[in-house]
Amino acid sequence: MFRRILSVALLGAVLASGEALAGGDEVNLYSYRQPFLIQPLLDAFTEETGIEVNVVYAKKGMVEKIKAAGENNPADAVLTVDIGRLDALLQEDLLEPVQSEVLTTHIPAHLRHPDGLWFGLTTRARVVLAHKDRVAAGTVQSLADLADPELQGKVCTRSGKHGYNVALIASVIAHEGEENAEAWLSGVKANLARKPQGNDRAQAKAIYEGVCDIAISNHYYMGKMATNEEKPEQKEWAKVVRVVFLNQDDRGQHVNISGAGVIRTGKNKDAAVRLIEFLAGEGAQNMYAQDNFEYPVRAGVALHPMLAEWGDFMADTLSLEDIARHRKAATQMVDRVRFDEGA
Ligand code: FE
Repeated sequence: MFRRILSVALLGAVLASGEALAGGDEVNLYSYRQPFLIQPLLDAFTEETGIEVNVVYAKKGMVEKIKAAGENNPADAVLTVDIGRLDALLQEDLLEPVQSEVLTTHIPAHLRHPDGLWFGLTTRARVVLAHKDRVAAGTVQSLADLADPELQGKVCTRSGKHGYNVALIASVIAHEGEENAEAWLSGVKANLARKPQGNDRAQAKAIYEGVCDIAISNHYYMGKMATNEEKPEQKEWAKVVRVVFLNQDDRGQHVNISGAGVIRTGKNKDAAVRLIEFLAGEGAQNMYAQDNFEYPVRAGVALHPMLAEWGDFMADTLSLEDIARHRKAATQMVDRVRFDEGA
């Protein structure tokens, strides 16, 4: 089978030559998601539909590139993680509303935009990692507990400005209002063991090294660390911590999404919708779950054995659109309480 990974420039050139516009049997995709995960999914899509996928793996600047290209934009769809990235595309009016019965049937309403501007394809729980011995079971059961003065000097996290934390804080604002959320965030800041830094895995490492006992992390990093053959030291970090699902007695565990949207100025929008429908299908959902430790949005898809072992949890069903709406207030709050300066 024929597979092309094109640079942005080359993709533009292919489109300008008219080659890729031939008959709608093609879809041009910007992906923030990594090739190891996405390429097998795209190969399966092409095999099933005959639609070729030209993919550009972007690290940043996607919104700017699509905007700058105007009507000459080559991209038909975008695949990314984090509601913040999907919302950034929406805010720039770059997304096309999609009506698809397949997508509305298989993706729960709170995980997609009400007008079909973006669709969640997997969920990622932003959990607590707690040292197995140094933190007694039940010490942290909710986000509120992270602000408990008993935990002073024990909590680690990455920057409050990172999209994952912005969404988490936005969910607190949506549930509890700005005033309560700010008191809470100040309380969490007061408990920090060090200035927010590093990525989520760096927090597990900090627990391993005794810098802190409790960290905030997306759940799938546990799977990635525990199975990391290239950096086996990460297996040791994963071994000393346990995953704690939060807010199980009230609103449920906060989750974020990876997702997709169709680009308004794309030339192959029907094919783009078919691709997103495929990604919400049983086979693709199973690949997301087994290859990347993510939670499928589609019901009835088996979890990775490691996640199955953690057991079921109740997820917060606050709509991701609501979370998106409170992102700006969350970012401003992070600045106001000087969260990233540490305790
Ligand atoms: Fe991540």
